[in-house]
Amino acid sequence: MLRVKILLFVLAAAVLSGQAPDLILVNGKIWTVAERPPTAEAVACAGGKILVVGSSAEIGKLAGPATRVIDLGGKLVVPGFNDAHVHFFIGGAHLAGVQLRDAKTEAEFRDRIAAFARKLPQGRWIAGGDWDHENWTPARLPTRQLIDEAAGDHPVFINRLDGHMSLANSLALQLAGVTRKTDDPPGGTVVRDAQGELAGVLKDSAQAFVERVIPAPSDDEIADALKAAMRYAAENGVTSVQDMSASPDVFRVYQKLLARGELTVRVYGAQPLGDWQRLSAAGIRAGFGNDKLKIGLLKGFADGSLGSTTALFFAPYLDEPKTSGLASDEMIPESKMFDRIAGADAAGLQITVHAIGDRANRTILDMYARAAAADPSRDRRFRIEHAQHLTPADIPHFARQHVIASMQPYHAIDDGRWAEKRIGPERAKGTYAFRSLLDSGAVLAFGSDWFVAPMEPLKGIYGAATRRTLDGKRPGGWIPEQKITVAEAIRAYTMGSAYASFDEKIKGSIEPGKLADFAVLSADILTIDPAAIDQVKVVMTVFDGRVVYRR
Ligand SMILES: [Zn+2]
Repeated sequence: MLRVKILLFVLAAAVLSGQAPDLILVNGKIWTVAERPPTAEAVACAGGKILVVGSSAEIGKLAGPATRVIDLGGKLVVPGFNDAHVHFFIGGAHLAGVQLRDAKTEAEFRDRIAAFARKLPQGRWIAGGDWDHENWTPARLPTRQLIDEAAGDHPVFINRLDGHMSLANSLALQLAGVTRKTDDPPGGTVVRDAQGELAGVLKDSAQAFVERVIPAPSDDEIADALKAAMRYAAENGVTSVQDMSASPDVFRVYQKLLARGELTVRVYGAQPLGDWQRLSAAGIRAGFGNDKLKIGLLKGFADGSLGSTTALFFAPYLDEPKTSGLASDEMIPESKMFDRIAGADAAGLQITVHAIGDRANRTILDMYARAAAADPSRDRRFRIEHAQHLTPADIPHFARQHVIASMQPYHAIDDGRWAEKRIGPERAKGTYAFRSLLDSGAVLAFGSDWFVAPMEPLKGIYGAATRRTLDGKRPGGWIPEQKITVAEAIRAYTMGSAYASFDEKIKGSIEPGKLADFAVLSADILTIDPAAIDQVKVVMTVFDGRVVYRR
């Protein structure tokens, strides 16, 4: 009864304000991620907000002459995904750049550069590429002569996919002042042909000769990268991102896109923790901005990564017993990290710290507890990014201390292929401990860590619910006791991430008054076998009440 009254009230309010819906979705299965109702058939939106959620019959009646009505044909709708950890510009620059990774021959490699160069504004550098000459027959290194004509007036400096060598064209070498007389630098090689002429490839430290003359990206180049990233986000139902690398240059361009009405994803930008005083001096506190672009999150680093054996553990690595990892330079001495956390927290900024190893996580949890003791009741929402390896004793601390675990489930099915050889089966039990964290009452915020992993929430949900490693060797799941349900994974990718940016009142669920951001899926991931979720696609994305992607 109460629900009916609320519904009538909302409808009356909408009608009184003269607000006919501009968008109505009907005949779907709306998974609201709200307590009541958990599912609905239809949703009406106006002015970028959700007006009402209910049955197709009720909501269909609200359509006015200007209302766009979309029949969902029974498809599942979830709140727009909120990726709590991305590196949006770097990822976008890869997408917007020349794609050479799968070029199968020298000729294809050259032709792709030529085609890319033709679309580029005059004189702009061509970089990135990720080529791999091992795919070619014969597998010989590419040369500057191969690409000089293709590149035209564009300087080129494109890297092999391992980053250990890059190919320059003649123009780039000339701009860098590299000639046949240039000596090999320590730790690097300038590759030469049989006559001693420059061949174009520079290896390892020799790459710096050209890197240092590549200009910083212009605002237009940054905008092109961010637009490519936004298209990729829309294709995957991502309507909010929390950008861990929102440097001043990138943030300036976000503002330009916002002003031009071109932002199709909501952005919460993080700055380095070491910069907290600059933000604080400008009076910026957590949540400064609006529902499309916010600032006030600071990100620090406690350690490195498991892959490079620099994640900081209590015990040594099994396969490198001389080390238990490395604290980041921000932690040397640890008092420096604590002072930054305490200072930024007292200034009202939000703090998150990258912590992978169990010791790094413990250290940061302890620092958070000490910092919070100064004013225990404040709603500060400390976060840990990755929270990848936790001791059993530390898992309950997340809930107890109200620390958000900002985790990336795709990493679990990727790293799960080889993590145990590094840390052993016993320590591995606390790896990506989604189930234990949720059961202890912690808030999980899910993300991808794109560009390190794909920005594809459905792949993350698949990973969290199945824990099937990418090599197919763990069909029952790696550490299966840490699986969570699909519904829990959706919640972590929507409400959890919204909570992690203080936005749970305006997004994260499909409820009247919240922002009209949705993803429509090709299959009902709540009822199909979770192992089939990696085949499911996003078929439509609605951002701010507008359809920004349709498959
Ligand atoms: Zn990251």
